[in-house]
Amino acid sequence: MNDHKVKSIVKSLSNIQSDNFFEEICLALGQAIDSDYVFIATIDENKNKASSIAVARKGQIVDNFSYHLQNTPCSEVANESICTHRDNIQQLYPNDQLLVDMDIEGYVGVPLKTGEGKVQAILIALFEGNFANVLEVETLFLLFSGIIERELHKANYVKTIELHKHIIENTHEAILICDKEQRITYVNPAFTRMTGYSLTDVLGQTPKLLNSGIQDKNFYQAMWRELNEKGYWKGKIWNKNKEGKVYLEWLSITAIVDEHKSVTHYNAVFMDVTEQYRAAEKIKFQESYDELTKVANKNSLFDFINLSAARYQHQHPTSAALLVINIDLFKKFNSLYSYGFGDKVLVEIAARLKSVVQPSDLVARTSSDNFAIFVNDLSSKDDITKVINKVRSAFIEPLHIASVSLKITVTIGVAFLYKDASDAHRLFEKAEQAMFVAKDISRNSYQFYSQQLADEASKEEQLKQSLEYGIEHDEFSIVYQPIVSVEGYAVTKFEALIRWYHNGSWLSPADFIPTAEKFGLISKIGDIVLEKACAELSKLKAQGFTELAFNINRSIYEFPVEANDTAWLDTIRRHELEPKDICFELTESVLAPENDTHIALLNQLQLAGCTIALDDFGTGYSSLSYLRRFPIDTLKIDRSFISEMTKVEGDVVLVSAIISMAKALNIAVVAEGVELKGEVDILRQLGCDYIQGYYFSKPLKPAHLAQYLMEVNSEGRIG
Ligand code: C2E
Ligand code: CA
Ligand code: CA
Repeated sequence: MNDHKVKSIVKSLSNIQSDNFFEEICLALGQAIDSDYVFIATIDENKNKASSIAVARKGQIVDNFSYHLQNTPCSEVANESICTHRDNIQQLYPNDQLLVDMDIEGYVGVPLKTGEGKVQAILIALFEGNFANVLEVETLFLLFSGIIERELHKANYVKTIELHKHIIENTHEAILICDKEQRITYVNPAFTRMTGYSLTDVLGQTPKLLNSGIQDKNFYQAMWRELNEKGYWKGKIWNKNKEGKVYLEWLSITAIVDEHKSVTHYNAVFMDVTEQYRAAEKIKFQESYDELTKVANKNSLFDFINLSAARYQHQHPTSAALLVINIDLFKKFNSLYSYGFGDKVLVEIAARLKSVVQPSDLVARTSSDNFAIFVNDLSSKDDITKVINKVRSAFIEPLHIASVSLKITVTIGVAFLYKDASDAHRLFEKAEQAMFVAKDISRNSYQFYSQQLADEASKEEQLKQSLEYGIEHDEFSIVYQPIVSVEGYAVTKFEALIRWYHNGSWLSPADFIPTAEKFGLISKIGDIVLEKACAELSKLKAQGFTELAFNINRSIYEFPVEANDTAWLDTIRRHELEPKDICFELTESVLAPENDTHIALLNQLQLAGCTIALDDFGTGYSSLSYLRRFPIDTLKIDRSFISEMTKVEGDVVLVSAIISMAKALNIAVVAEGVELKGEVDILRQLGCDYIQGYYFSKPLKPAHLAQYLMEVNSEGRIG
């Protein structure tokens, strides 16, 4: 071999910069072997295609090209064999068009392999004529293929490193690398974005600069112990950024070891998970707490009770109790002010309730105006009374909200764990039932749950369902009781009284009206009564009883919400009656000061021509003062005064006073429940205008009205 040639190649290689190595070696080899072309081409994975990375042609670098390997001598080289043809290469590979185009005769190719022995590229020399020293070319190629292979490997390696670097720099996770002394050697741009520290800020520092102080020494000791034992650590950790803001990161640290298994570096990868953490915490909070008042919600109250239930299993049946606390009239003052105001009231109530309980108890808000307290560790039933008193006294002092001073009262129902129910759900139901019973009796009161109470409640529930059925199936009818004029005993007025025929028997209104009122069914019933009475009156008028008027009872719960509601007048007019044909009977409570809309509606009715009677007069508590609030037309003296009149001297005086007062105010008087002739006589003497009662007539069925009217008004005396 020609030493000179090797030397010249080695010499030219010594000047080579790594970035033009392949071109330089192609040029040097081309010159040394005097070939027309020398090129290096990489081979694709499937050995289908070659792509040159450097091409020297007659001492010049020319453009790269790529070609298919099929039917070329290069495919053999790609398959690991050295391929040498002094001449006639075109004849040997007639389908290799490139050889024809380039006018090639001689060919030398050697495979260039990876460290694993896989062909990754080929080194090829082409001769336009044939060439002399086959052996010399082959030897030179083999000699330099090793260098080229290493260089290819290096190029690949650099490419991989560059890719890795690109990935590391562009990843969303922060990456921090430190040496075994924990001095930071690298951080990526995501680290800078997350922490605010640039690479220059942290180079040479330790990761302690991120320390938030939230985790204690033990935490870090345990972390390092695990990291050194297992080689990695994963977990959440609160750190602090350059601005001093604390954030939660999900961190994974890996110890990087050398071939002797000693740590050279630590690689930490982390993500900021503060937002996710906050969102999860919020959900957790919302699941167990009432957002507005920050006390427990119904779910967590139930969990708490069930936990206690497990704890108390073998103890005394009154060791723990649940108080269901309803804020009296909350809905009313909520609509009176604003919802924002109502919210503030609830927050203050929650605070007051919390102030009266022990740490072992739990306050919860269970619905819009209901709170509950679960009380643990009661030693006797008396203990709970003390708690109830504490709760009630927490509201003695009015609430001061937005310059409004508000007096709050609460109604409480109590049920004992184990005595009344052994799980949260039923315990709550029972305490709530007790609260409803308390509410029925009076606001600002409390009740303990008992079976008897529950039975009554369930009876009432049944009655309510029957009422709904009755309304739907037209089970109601009306009877009419005459109101007899003392003057000549003429009858031009009747009171309409409802009757309910249900399940084969007649029910008295006293038995179902309170339930209808309680469950909001009274308005529907009231509509039925007015409708039927108007139809009946219209019929009678058509028969010639033109002077007739009917009295209709109206419970306070039947009054519409809107003062300008005209439904009652509409019904009257729809039956071609005049408002003066109907007198509405109502009790004093309708005229109470808080019922301004009722009074506005009564004014509207009266203005239209209806008359208004005050029923059960004398049984209310501030009769006279209410009378002044509204100009009523008629006053009905309650039966209790009438029946006592003949027995007790004092009551005659009272009835006499009522009649005189009414006369002074120009109000007509009806005496109710008159059963005896003696009563009629006294009432006549006292100047009473009308008498209603069994003495003259019981309430009559509609079918008997016309007959009755004809008899009574022609004879002038009944009974
Ligand atoms: P009220 O308005 O005081 O009606 C008079 C009640 O006394 C009627 O009882 C009547 O039958 C009864 N009564 C009349 N004369 C005598 C008598 O001489 N002696 C005795 N012992 N009782 C007499 P009723 O029909 O059972 O009604 C009871 C209450 O039910 C009524 O008292 C009224 O408050 C209410 N009510 C009746 N019908 C209606 C209605 O359509 N709507 C509303 N909201 N309430 C009604
Ligand atoms: Ca009445
Ligand atoms: Ca009455």
